Amino acid sequence: MTLSERDRMVVWHPYTQMMTAGDAIPIVRGSGALLYGEDGRILVDAISSWWVTVHGHGHPYIADAIGNQAKELEQVIFAGFTHPQAVRLAERLVDITPEGITRMFFSDNGSTAVEVGLKMAWQYWQNKGEKRTGLLALEHAYHGDTFGAMSLSGRSIFTRAFDELLFDVHFVSSPAEALSDMDISSENSGTGNLRQEKIINELEKLTSERDFAAIILEPLVQGAGGMLMYTPEILDAIVCYCHTKDILVIFDEVMTGFYRTGTLLAALQCKESPDIICMSKGLTGGFLPLSVTAATEEIYNAFLDEDRTKMLFHGHSFTANPLGCAAANASLDLFEHPETKARITRICKIQDQGRQQLERHPMLKNVRCTGTILAMDIIVNEAEGYLNQIGAEVGKWFFNRGILLRPLGNVLYLMPPYSIEYDTLRKIQLMIGEALHEILGNSMGERKD
Ligand code: PMP
Repeated sequence: MTLSERDRMVVWHPYTQMMTAGDAIPIVRGSGALLYGEDGRILVDAISSWWVTVHGHGHPYIADAIGNQAKELEQVIFAGFTHPQAVRLAERLVDITPEGITRMFFSDNGSTAVEVGLKMAWQYWQNKGEKRTGLLALEHAYHGDTFGAMSLSGRSIFTRAFDELLFDVHFVSSPAEALSDMDISSENSGTGNLRQEKIINELEKLTSERDFAAIILEPLVQGAGGMLMYTPEILDAIVCYCHTKDILVIFDEVMTGFYRTGTLLAALQCKESPDIICMSKGLTGGFLPLSVTAATEEIYNAFLDEDRTKMLFHGHSFTANPLGCAAANASLDLFEHPETKARITRICKIQDQGRQQLERHPMLKNVRCTGTILAMDIIVNEAEGYLNQIGAEVGKWFFNRGILLRPLGNVLYLMPPYSIEYDTLRKIQLMIGEALHEILGNSMGERKD
């Protein structure tokens, strides 16, 4: 039996309709932006394997750091004990996060980082003896697949089966420019002013009715909701407003962290700092599951008490796993290299050039770019959204040409590892037009006739 056949007998894959999905492709090696298949095929990983691989696959420096750490200490209980890699990583994260963020809580993945942030914010008010009953989030948000994270996410096809089990969260409109569901003219939406006004009005109304504990948002780019992008100005306005109402602000930087938006964290593009930041994905360079929920000293202090019931009741078996922390420290070493920074700057530029070129394409709309992420909506006749078939067709077209893309329905995006060859990235951008022409061209032609 082939590996794919054995897989089909025993494995259940994520976000996959197992009945209709094709066989899983066996990958046996990764190097830089390339993945090597068992059958000899080579794929360019243009989505960083679900947005995690920042320096490229199999980076020897990170691989060695993990190997060396494994020989020293692979795992230790993190309650009552600590280890050098965790302390070093926490110190470095304090240095690179915005001013005021001073405490690092470790967990394993993006969803748990969000759960921890939510628990911190919720219990903070309880420990202070103040009753806060509401939570705020953005429409089209995605914060993960655990129940707290799902509750904080926009209600969608992702949550539908579980909606009855989710707790109430108040959603305000997404600040994203690509959305047409805002009752404002496109002429004005470019400035963002009316969009901002609308969101602040919604917040004013909600906060006049109830005391909110926290707001959570994906800063600058709402990822799984469709790579929806918005400006630091609107983000600042939301953060400022929430702070005037004493509402804790949680930035979910699980996807945006580690230079995806051009800066180490999206938070560094804001004038006002959040109170809590969730990080994962690129934290370990994409090598191992690890996450950090970072908080201010004020939040941390609210959990200090003679009374043990006021501690944060949260922890995982693998909290601050030494191998994960070693990988994260190695990844941060790489980010300190001027060469890595130069590469990131260059990729931001190439992606923006791609935006300018694709903007004129008649089968695309809302072509947008933030930092290293380029995204666009394919114009379709049927309902847009995650289940739109065009994504699968475009994905297949690229796959057959050696490129791994996984569009979110009709939203096509490129989020490559920073080690990708510049010419390869440019080539993929150019191929988008060709793909659309081949896949949609005929039907567009018919309509024109
Ligand atoms: N938050 C955001 C913004 C994400 O993009 C994701 C994952 N796509 C998560 C949380 C959940 O992370 P994980 O899949 O590691 O649980």
